[in-house]
Amino acid sequence: MKISNSARISREFYKTTASPLDRLNYAKELNKQFFEKLVPEFKTDKIDADIYINNLHEVSPPNIILQVEKNTDKKQVGAVSLGTNKKSIAGYIMELPIDKNNQISIYDMDTCMHEPFHYFVEMNNPKHIARFVSYNKHGKKDEFEKFYWENLYSKQDKFDIKELKKNLDEFLNNLGSKQKLDFLQNSRYRLSEEKYAYEQGNIYLDKIQDIHSDIIPHKIDGHHYEEYHFEEKIKLLNDTLRDTINTIRENNKM
Ligand SMILES: [Zn+2]
Repeated sequence: MKISNSARISREFYKTTASPLDRLNYAKELNKQFFEKLVPEFKTDKIDADIYINNLHEVSPPNIILQVEKNTDKKQVGAVSLGTNKKSIAGYIMELPIDKNNQISIYDMDTCMHEPFHYFVEMNNPKHIARFVSYNKHGKKDEFEKFYWENLYSKQDKFDIKELKKNLDEFLNNLGSKQKLDFLQNSRYRLSEEKYAYEQGNIYLDKIQDIHSDIIPHKIDGHHYEEYHFEEKIKLLNDTLRDTINTIRENNKM
């Protein structure tokens, strides 16, 4: 499956190979530009979803296809997924907390700055998308996703990194080399992206409440994402990936 030009930043933009840090910073820059356009639109504690969407399109590179799901009326829900047609990844689908009056609340700005960040990161990292495509090809998507959601992108009552390492090793033991690499790479890309997306969401929720202290009666906190223990989990994935690559190399020598 190909990644079409409508799902990635133009190749001319990245004539020289931009580092992962450059790509991350560019995604942050686009998110910042989007936030700055959004701020003056708030005259009350709500804005019309169309105003949000139009501003997002204005900041986005013109070649990128984005569809925002409207009138979902699912409070506190947000997601970005890949839009596909038969042959290629064609663009992005975003879900946001839009109420039944087609409005977005200032108090949901954590989610409403988290999701565009995913979108900006992904269009900047076709490698991540390619890895996700490869990850889905093994016929083990359900199994992979179950482990990811239960053990990695989840909050545990009592987080224990040793317990997680044990579970991860057991899970990987049943996989082939390519499956292991795709699972580990995809999971670490996704968890890192979440860590930064939560960070961005909280930064901008805090900022916009300060800027618009005139129109809001009280400030609220953003997501308490430290309960996900992203840093420790990403480190475990990186260490496991390095060990897995070393083992594969050793085995190939024989
Ligand atoms: Zn997210």
